[in-house]
Amino acid sequence: MQRPYNFSAGPAAIPEEVLQMAAAEMLNWHGSGMSVMEMSHRGKEFISIAEKAEADFRKLLAVPDHFHILFMQGGGLAENAIVPLNLSRGGAVDFVVTGSWSQKSVKEAGKFCDAQTVASDEAQGFTHIPAAAGWKLRDSAQYVHICSNETINGVEFQELPDLATLGSKAPLVIDFSSHVASRPVEWSRVGLAFGGAQKNLGPAGLTLVVVRDDLLDHAMAACPSAFNYRLVADNQSMYNTPPTWGIYMAGLTFDWILRQREGALTGVAALEARNQAKAELLYRAIDGSQLYENRVAHDCRSRMNVPFFLKDESRNQAFLDGAKERGLLQLKGHKSVGGMRASIYNAMPLAGVQTLVDYMQTFEKQA
Ligand SMILES: *Cc1c(COP(=O)(O)O)cnc(C)c1O
Repeated sequence: MQRPYNFSAGPAAIPEEVLQMAAAEMLNWHGSGMSVMEMSHRGKEFISIAEKAEADFRKLLAVPDHFHILFMQGGGLAENAIVPLNLSRGGAVDFVVTGSWSQKSVKEAGKFCDAQTVASDEAQGFTHIPAAAGWKLRDSAQYVHICSNETINGVEFQELPDLATLGSKAPLVIDFSSHVASRPVEWSRVGLAFGGAQKNLGPAGLTLVVVRDDLLDHAMAACPSAFNYRLVADNQSMYNTPPTWGIYMAGLTFDWILRQREGALTGVAALEARNQAKAELLYRAIDGSQLYENRVAHDCRSRMNVPFFLKDESRNQAFLDGAKERGLLQLKGHKSVGGMRASIYNAMPLAGVQTLVDYMQTFEKQA
């Protein structure tokens, strides 16, 4: 039986091989007689799982040695509070607002620090990334926050800003929840990156934080201990019970990523090439049609999340019903944007996007 193609924005599709491996190991992990879910996080079995996951993540994204990789809980939204509690010192923090997620981030951070929007594309309906030269960065900023891929609006930074060339000494914080491991990261430009696992890395419940060592020691007194980066780092992410199942599943996913090949490319580079091809195929189909449209500027369109509209909105439900019949699931757009959204994360094969494009063209002709 072929599984349907699942275009959910998150929790999202997981590679079938990863699900099969987890199923095979469910009752008895590597002869231990236990499911991973039943293991002590302090036992040698689970410690080996967590150490391998961390090493594989470091390898696949080439994370430099002067960054810590933390496995935490709370998701992306909790990090909107945890980051300022650890990094803001209660002072100034600058936000570039390019969509719903960065909008949420600046609002939450305002509870803990002097959070200010220094550039925003809200007036244009979040269809562009404001040019970096126009960002009104403050010298006093403790860090600058961006959402490097806006999951709801479908806006992605094709390159991370280099704050040093903009005259800022502040570290850059990126929310990379929805495109982590879909492309390489320019770590020399980053102070901290965070992301929930449920888009590109596995099930919900695990949050990844990659933090430069010099940023570990600025937590405010009010920061909860379980969310204090220094404490979490010094305890190898086991200060409190970590999300053990999420770490295990992410570890299987990292393994899967490292095995990927496209021509001479391997790992994340292979996935990036595949993701480019998938996105190009879908955007070309949308732009070339009379029925569908995507309103995001070409140079900042997301490779992962493709929102699109039917110019005749009365056909929305028929579109979704027909898609479901063909095994194309969860294409309904976010309620704040409407229309459709195809999330085409790492686990979506090119054949899934091709099947969607074929269906879209057939549906258009049926008018
Ligand atoms: C999904 C998502 C979040 C929120 O994640 P939660 O796990 O629901 O807290 C934050 N930021 C981005 C960019 C996301 O895509």
